[in-house]
Amino acid sequence: MATSTPAKVVIIGSGPAGYTAAIYAARAMLQPILIQGIQPGGQMTITTDVENYPGFAEVIQGPWLMEQMQKQAAQVGTTLVPDHVSKVDLAGRPFRLECDSGHRYLADSLIIATGAQARWLDLPSEHKFKGYGVSACATCDGFFYRSKDVLVIGGGNTAVEEALFLTNFASSVTVVHRRDRFRAEKILQERLFRNPKISVIWNTVLADVIGQENPLKVTGVVLRNVNSNTHTERRVDGVFVAIGHTPASELFTGQVEMKPSGYIKTAPFSTATSVPGVFAAGDVTDDVYRQAVTAAGQGCMAALEVERFLAAVGEAEPAVAAE
Ligand code: NAP
Repeated sequence: MATSTPAKVVIIGSGPAGYTAAIYAARAMLQPILIQGIQPGGQMTITTDVENYPGFAEVIQGPWLMEQMQKQAAQVGTTLVPDHVSKVDLAGRPFRLECDSGHRYLADSLIIATGAQARWLDLPSEHKFKGYGVSACATCDGFFYRSKDVLVIGGGNTAVEEALFLTNFASSVTVVHRRDRFRAEKILQERLFRNPKISVIWNTVLADVIGQENPLKVTGVVLRNVNSNTHTERRVDGVFVAIGHTPASELFTGQVEMKPSGYIKTAPFSTATSVPGVFAAGDVTDDVYRQAVTAAGQGCMAALEVERFLAAVGEAEPAVAAE
């Protein structure tokens, strides 16, 4: 029979929330186990310049920041596990977790810091050309669009940052936004409007992606003006969808309370979920701020709340031995 590793606290997720929770939990002598997931470092590893994480006067890179957090978490005593949790059972404590590797954990407490993933428009043609001219990550795929014409869909920080980043490669970048103004930070908008390679099409949505078969390749798009409902065709080589994020909470469906949007519900001014002993931090629960620094702050809160929870239930030592 497979053995299960007992732990006082297991943290799922390796973004700013997960690593910060680990740093605090390790320093509280809780010997945290952090399961890193498929993309160690999370969304920050597919960002480039980070200018708003306090403490750095120079512009830093997202992947570098996550490396530092990972090193710090390990140095203070976190066990980092490069695995992906495929099953959880939160019906009673200790909570049961199973990973892709087959490894199991029995956790006295749990911090969910699984973050969020890019949203898609859900057009059949978008899915068809995903990886063949349609992408949700300029940092990952921008390089393939050297001297090409690309489109970015969206009007938030991600869309504006992706558009700016793509100007390093593409000959032209067109941002298509469904309204007549961006929601991105003003400083980013100013940079975008100043960039001669970028143009914006307002009040417009992507209706269809057009391309060739054999090999699959995007050759254009159909755009729809939301005011006039007119359709226009446009030649482009690539489409970057940057319309926000969906919380990575599917694993916990039916086990912790969630908002209809899938964000895990937490008590006011707390990271406590509907299940005692289970806490949630970062983008999986935060549909308001969604910043690296707020995720880190919530990770800290979660670790402090775990410490109090374990003290209150009188568990200085792991409750359960290996099965
Ligand atoms: P976001 O702020 O939620 O923006 C999503 C954008 O996509 C909005 O402009 C939205 O339009 C548009 N959109 C949503 N659904 C759409 C649809 N079905 N069709 C067409 N357009 C659609 O998402 P985000 O830009 O990914 O940012 C997420 C969070 O991370 C934000 O809090 C953001 O500030 C933060 N972030 C921060 C940084 C940074 O600080 N450097 C970088 C990246 C992200 P509407 O405007 O009409 O709603």
